[in-house]
Amino acid sequence: MAGVVALGQGVHRIPTAGDFINSFAFVEEDGSVTLVDAGTRFANKRIVAGLAQIGKHPRDVQRLVLTHAHLDHAGSAAKVVEQSQARGVTVHVDDAQYVRRGSPPATGSRMMTVLNRLPGTGWTPCPVAATVQDGDVLDVAGGMSVHHTPGHTPGHISLIHQESGVLITGDSIFNMNARMTWPVKVFCTDFPLTKRTAAVLGDLDYRVAAFTHGPQIDTAARETVRGFLRREGVVR
Ligand SMILES: [Zn+2]
Repeated sequence: MAGVVALGQGVHRIPTAGDFINSFAFVEEDGSVTLVDAGTRFANKRIVAGLAQIGKHPRDVQRLVLTHAHLDHAGSAAKVVEQSQARGVTVHVDDAQYVRRGSPPATGSRMMTVLNRLPGTGWTPCPVAATVQDGDVLDVAGGMSVHHTPGHTPGHISLIHQESGVLITGDSIFNMNARMTWPVKVFCTDFPLTKRTAAVLGDLDYRVAAFTHGPQIDTAARETVRGFLRREGVVR
């Protein structure tokens, strides 16, 4: 399996399907762990193995934050929560209902909305321990700010870990095949809104751009993200 990648002091990327789908681990001073995203329903064993690589056990996990309610991010959430100290996930208030019911919000595509109702397309319904909103600062490893970037889903968030300067874009921007792209349109609740709200990622300050889909960018990260947003006409 692809190994865990260090992004900063106590900050790790855990690939759960090669570099195509990532979770992230933040180690607290007391040794406990906050995870971000839980991959597909097949990701749990990769997450457990990733934690083992950094000397941690699922029981050390005190919090699981989800960037949004899609099956490749919430797929193993219920399992991770069950093995952890968390009572449920932390998610934006506008995506909480979807995490609880185990299926994604409607998309702009009627075909996808129909497909999403088929059995086997969702995930195990998962309890929500806390909801967050734009501007919240979570007490994660010295502070993690929440940036509401809706469009992909109504409650999609991006996150910045302040001490390490690691940005987690979520599905606002992908970094697959060595280039940045927008998320797949048919999976977005509101694709134009996805693009508009990504502008915030051009304004924020960070050192490393980490993607839920694709490897991180740790050289000239902000300039590279801004270059993409400028080419796409989202920022000047
Ligand atoms: Zn995704």
